[in-house]
Amino acid sequence: MTRPLLFRQLFDARSFTYTYLLADPASRAAVLIDPVFEQVTRDQALLRELGLHLVATLDTHVHADHVTGAFLHRAALGCRIVVSRHGGTTGHDDGVDDGDRVAFGARSLGVRATPGHTDGCVTYVLDDLSLAFTGDALLIRGAGRTDFQQGDARTLFRSVREKIFTLPDDTLLYPGHDYAGRTVTTVAEERAHNPRLGGERSEGDFVLLMGNLHLPHPKQLALALPANLRVGAPDAPMPPSARPDWAEVTRSYAGVPELRADAFVAEPPAAKVVDLREDAELRGELGRIPAAVHQPLGGLLAAAASWDREAPLVLVCRSGGRSAQAAVQLEGLGFRRVASLLGGMLAYRVAGGEVIREASG
Ligand code: FE
Repeated sequence: MTRPLLFRQLFDARSFTYTYLLADPASRAAVLIDPVFEQVTRDQALLRELGLHLVATLDTHVHADHVTGAFLHRAALGCRIVVSRHGGTTGHDDGVDDGDRVAFGARSLGVRATPGHTDGCVTYVLDDLSLAFTGDALLIRGAGRTDFQQGDARTLFRSVREKIFTLPDDTLLYPGHDYAGRTVTTVAEERAHNPRLGGERSEGDFVLLMGNLHLPHPKQLALALPANLRVGAPDAPMPPSARPDWAEVTRSYAGVPELRADAFVAEPPAAKVVDLREDAELRGELGRIPAAVHQPLGGLLAAAASWDREAPLVLVCRSGGRSAQAAVQLEGLGFRRVASLLGGMLAYRVAGGEVIREASG
């Protein structure tokens, strides 16, 4: 019997990093493996939309190519930061080692120490052995490099052979990165076809080939390494632009800046309200917001060309679909303080918002 699990594979296109969301559907307890600093807003939007409670972030190792989102997630959500005990980090909550378990609701991840790419590399294995998260120890048809940090090809070879290739044949393996768009593999597949570590490759073969990769240093190394040793704590306060300064705007997983209708009604922001509906809709049952200016979606971008891009804008339509699209388009034009009224006039009315109805005729 397969045990229920909610699972998502997320991708950061700048660093080619995979972040994994796992949750226990019954308790809604979730963990994030290898969250990325720049994707914290996205990850939290997904947690919110799926109704999940983040209990921990887990890093597979001290990354050299991106900064972890662990610190920011803990600051916002109060989750625990889990890292290897051997990574040299400070500021985490739980330093784990081989054989430890990290629980989320009724499910858990086991820790297997898989050093070699770095000293603190671990592979997280789901309780039923159906999934494993290998970080950079084992990549799809590849392996993490061993030429900086505490890289050691002999150690990595033994880690993969003893701690990953000993999992069941059909265990799905999810890597920390893929640079060619591959998403998942299995133990049997890598044992047979991994050109560095599979087939008849010996430890000696592996050491020689890893010594001759001639790779450039990671672009983000100088920035990422010190930040990750602090589990992703920024070395300066976050820039003020990171948080909307004019209303309680959140960004959805779809990327839309949104303002909840109840918040809008309770505390109307000092913003221009733009109603994007068609003429006929304004005369309909839902009415219209007294202060709103009328600009149907079709002519919005042309009209907005002359608007102040710094001035706050709340976009409204019937149900929040057109306003979501318009908000993203206006951000693309450089508008910095724009939000879609979530749920549109329908939600505005439910929230008790005041309307005027036009006398028809
Ligand atoms: Fe790495």
